[in-house]
Amino acid sequence: DLLVVGSANADLVIGVERRPAAGETVLGSDLAVHPGGKGANQAVAAARLGARTALLARVGDDAHGRLLLDAQRAAGVGTVGVLVGGAPTGVALITVDPSGDNSIVVSPGANGRLAPEDVRAAQGLLHASRVVSAQLEIPLETVEEVVRNLPSGTRFVLNPSPPRPLPAEVLAACDPLIVNEHEARVIAGDELGGAPEDWARALLALGPRSVVVTLGAEGALVAADGSMTRVPSVKVDAVDTTGAGDAFTAALAWRLGTGAALPEAAAYAARVGAAAVTRPGAQESYPTAEEVEALCGA
Ligand code: ADP
Repeated sequence: DLLVVGSANADLVIGVERRPAAGETVLGSDLAVHPGGKGANQAVAAARLGARTALLARVGDDAHGRLLLDAQRAAGVGTVGVLVGGAPTGVALITVDPSGDNSIVVSPGANGRLAPEDVRAAQGLLHASRVVSAQLEIPLETVEEVVRNLPSGTRFVLNPSPPRPLPAEVLAACDPLIVNEHEARVIAGDELGGAPEDWARALLALGPRSVVVTLGAEGALVAADGSMTRVPSVKVDAVDTTGAGDAFTAALAWRLGTGAALPEAAAYAARVGAAAVTRPGAQESYPTAEEVEALCGA
């Protein structure tokens, strides 16, 4: 089973002709509200593929929290670990201009209150999981507590997003650490060379057991067991890349839990990521295993 520990946000999206300057008001489109947040996205992506998935997260006792819980349950995610209350549900206020550029304000809200003691209270979920997957939209102390409470034999997967330097204890637990270029540069430092192989080497030197670098339309790079493997992408018409990285990580974590080797799990994840960019939205865009097969072959 897969346990995702992470954030749940309501994404509030308004289309605008242009952004307001300080003190100014502009009119926008009708409001669209979408379930989001990296933790919630990963859990839905894995469950859509058929993984037995649970989410450890915190939402507010409010309409956005209920929307997020409904989306998790509709996808088949186990929600006993979704704690309610303590602060309003996290929200992302997003304006989109006619060229498609976003401006985003995030209020972490309840995500910021997912505490180390919540991890200690979720021992049952941790012990039922072959793989635990986390991101950084929750407090770093909470991620550290996950690492300290990992049952032996449970694998830990981390997508350090939004990126920040990580304690050695967390890095040492990652198998793999999954990063895009921006995350690699923040974590390994700005003097990185130009090639993904250089970033992977610099990251491995920090202590994770393995590293996966995602490369958008170029696929991914897997660095593990002393070798580096390029994972090709699938050629698709990209419509919306929102949440593609979350789908990639969820698919990879699930495949590792079923016993796949890392390069094989990453190759499957690249097909899932490609399928996710062919449809708009994040959670709404995630494919079933049948859809992945139909798009990319088995
Ligand atoms: P992030 O959103 O975290 O920056 P990426 O953009 O690298 O992550 O996307 C994650 C994965 O999704 C990629 O490794 C790739 O497998 C897939 N993907 C993303 N964009 C495309 C694309 N345009 N065509 C095909 N696959 C894509």
